[in-house]
Amino acid sequence: MPRPFHELNGEAFRERLGNFGWTRRIWRVDMHHTWYPTQSDYCGCDTIDKMYRFHVEDRGWDDIAQHISIAPDGALWTGRDWNMTPASVGGGLNKGVFMFETIGNFDEGCEVLEGAQLASVILVIAEVQEYFALPPEALLFHREIPLTDKTCPGTSIDKGRILQMVRSYRDNSPRDKSPHLTS
Ligand SMILES: [Zn+2]
Repeated sequence: MPRPFHELNGEAFRERLGNFGWTRRIWRVDMHHTWYPTQSDYCGCDTIDKMYRFHVEDRGWDDIAQHISIAPDGALWTGRDWNMTPASVGGGLNKGVFMFETIGNFDEGCEVLEGAQLASVILVIAEVQEYFALPPEALLFHREIPLTDKTCPGTSIDKGRILQMVRSYRDNSPRDKSPHLTS
């Protein structure tokens, strides 16, 4: 979804996922933290616009890297067109990926992923996976790729705990499990 960026709640995100004219199939969800901006730097749409400008003007990318940015208050900000490959982990590994950035620095001793923001992280992972009939394990942390010294999405984020929360969200979801591709 090109600029201007829009703020969605969980329900609106779920609806957009279902109504979106998908032309590609997603097979993995990639989780990142922004590191900078931090949670305390966040000031609404301005923060998303700044990331956009950094990615496009400084990095030379076509658009903001991520499909969704998750704010400290749990708001979900639209980003790159969902049918476009994101600028996620590099190395030719981005095809078929739905990528989100969690706004904050979640390295140990810095900021904490909790509350509404954590709930939105789980919702995004679970809803995208469910829509495309993927298992909870179809989730990549940036730090898991080979030959990286990144800690992203932060050393305080335990993947086992995230997977457990995604499973429990999906176990309690009333939605059917079939993919609904438009083509
Ligand atoms: Zn990352």
